[in-house]
Amino acid sequence: MSYVKTRGIVVREVKAGDCDKILTIVTEDLGKISVSARGVRRNRNRYSAGTQVFSYCDWVLYKGKNTYILNTCDIISSFYEIREDMALLTYAAHMLHLINDITYENQPAKEPLKVLMYALNSLLNKDRTPDLIIRVYALKMVQLMGFEPHVLGCHLCGTREINDIFFSFEQCGFVCEQCQKENDAIPIKTGTAKALIYVLCASSREAFGFELSPEVLKNFSAVVDRYVDERLDKKYSKMSFLQEI
Ligand SMILES: [Zn+2]
Repeated sequence: MSYVKTRGIVVREVKAGDCDKILTIVTEDLGKISVSARGVRRNRNRYSAGTQVFSYCDWVLYKGKNTYILNTCDIISSFYEIREDMALLTYAAHMLHLINDITYENQPAKEPLKVLMYALNSLLNKDRTPDLIIRVYALKMVQLMGFEPHVLGCHLCGTREINDIFFSFEQCGFVCEQCQKENDAIPIKTGTAKALIYVLCASSREAFGFELSPEVLKNFSAVVDRYVDERLDKKYSKMSFLQEI
């Protein structure tokens, strides 16, 4: 029997049989995989904590016919504080939903996982604004997928001398006041433009290291939400739920 070792987070769990689970795990080396975790719903099973959604573990698995099979797991972080706070849980569930959608088996997911870890750890910091963290996370993820908006000058004429910056969803980036006339572009605040440039140029760790005024955050969020939804061709249901409460 050959074992594989990898590190990753449980993004989904489904009950199977009387005491088993089928887990979806996003891993560094194997991408997103299905893992059959046998007996983990039995009382006092040693792997019951590690096989819950949000558990970030070192996994030892072996390959069965259709899925991987759990051998052992060592918890690195269980993010239990997130599971116990309804508001944080909603943000974090949205993050898992997004990484689940953009990762695939046999496509290593080291970088998306790194962004997710910085985002989840930022959420745990009470001084931080979850509404900002979730947008930085989404923007960093679409950037990793290759859908980076053009933010270094006007995407159409190339000028970097822009007084009033517009964002064109059609052109995927900044356009100047002259070029916006023929495009479906919206004016954005200077603070929003600076935040977009910062996040896209920063490393995964540094990207989360700033805050915005409530007014700029509102504008930044509107741009990022629409950009991400259009690129991924999806409405993120859990965020719509957040906007309703
Ligand atoms: Zn232009």
